[in-house]
Amino acid sequence: MATPSHRRSLRKRRALLTSVAAVAVTGLGASYLVMSANANAVDLYHQTLAAKDGWASSGTGTTGGAKADAAHTFTVSTRAQLVKALGSASDTTPRIIKVKGTIDANTDDAGKKLTCANYASGTGYSLTSYLKAYDPAVYGRSKLPSGGQETARAAAQKKQAANIVFKVPANTTLVGVPGTKAGITGGMLQIQNVDNVIVRNLTFAATEDCFPQWDPTDGDEGNWNSTYDSVTLRGATHVWADHNTFTDAPRFDSANPEYFGREYQVHDGSLDITKSSDLVTVSRNQFTSHDKTMLIGSSDSEPAGKLRVSIHHNVWKGIVQRAPLGRVGQIHIYNNLYDVTPLNGYAVQYSINSRAKAQVVAENNHWKVPAGVKVAKLLSGDGTGAIKGTGNAVNSTVTDLVAAYNAASSKDLKTTVNWTPTLTAGMESSAKNLPTSLGTTTGAGVLS
Ligand code: CA
Ligand code: CA
Repeated sequence: MATPSHRRSLRKRRALLTSVAAVAVTGLGASYLVMSANANAVDLYHQTLAAKDGWASSGTGTTGGAKADAAHTFTVSTRAQLVKALGSASDTTPRIIKVKGTIDANTDDAGKKLTCANYASGTGYSLTSYLKAYDPAVYGRSKLPSGGQETARAAAQKKQAANIVFKVPANTTLVGVPGTKAGITGGMLQIQNVDNVIVRNLTFAATEDCFPQWDPTDGDEGNWNSTYDSVTLRGATHVWADHNTFTDAPRFDSANPEYFGREYQVHDGSLDITKSSDLVTVSRNQFTSHDKTMLIGSSDSEPAGKLRVSIHHNVWKGIVQRAPLGRVGQIHIYNNLYDVTPLNGYAVQYSINSRAKAQVVAENNHWKVPAGVKVAKLLSGDGTGAIKGTGNAVNSTVTDLVAAYNAASSKDLKTTVNWTPTLTAGMESSAKNLPTSLGTTTGAGVLS
């Protein structure tokens, strides 16, 4: 007679056999088959990262909230419900949060829309006064703004942060309910110093800082810097970000004004992976219409041994830079589609940057490059980072991007790395079909 635990182990064995059969299919779409096989056994909300699917599958793997009980399974449609479902950032009880529809982070607990003016109210901050106080002609360029209006700006920023930053605890799956245009507008998911988080099937749009800070010492001419990424990983481990869409829409950078001769930038990263985060798989997302898209490591002095990230089967379209900018870590970038055709005013500076001794393996990716964009422009580096890998195509022709970059640059990319990727389930050995296959298998709204 089959006991419940016997039935469970039979089910497990059957699921395992299906996965093994799917993995045995090599070439185009193997990872997709694995996913389908899992989908037959487990619903979307309980799915876990497949074995060997990138760095997040190493060690204990990434299961998110798959073990959540009924009391920790939530469906949320408002900001207040999301905050409640996330609970305390230090509570490690497995939880599943189903996001139904679009949640506007800039709303109060009653769901009323909040504007930048609402956050500034009571702080004494005004952009006009701020610009007057820190005009380089008056204030100089040697030090960061401080006192008066800067204190007021920081207070206003803190009020916005309290509203739009969502802290994700360990052992959480956050997933969009299919068919509901699920996502978060104007918010930042903060995955900080926690392990085992899954983020899937969500559209992250319009993450904007109401209160950019002027830094006259950033670069030769100073910069306006913003605080929020749509999703930010800081000291996070075992994170799987899959089938999400990231965009600045509806307000693109072309709408940013200029102050002190510099762009008043309200956006920061789309998905930043910093502060010794480790074991991350970023798969089948769409990154679109954005400037500083993905930072891996936020400073050249991040310690070695972490920042291991796999990035595969994503679409990068209308991205200016950092797709990604990699530092320090062992980073595997494969089977991505880079469309560097200018889009919504976003023109490419470069796609992949390897610096601070990053050990990047980039293979079998596909670049769609319009006339007028040089192949040498697709990469970047500081002379210490490496990019190794073959099978990268430019407009369907396999091309040695590193050789093209190095021929045109004085800070050559190194071409050997200190590791060989092994967690590569579903890797396709050719980039040929990516422009077709990734069109319908990436981003939010695809999973069911
Ligand atoms: Ca950032
Ligand atoms: Ca050179």
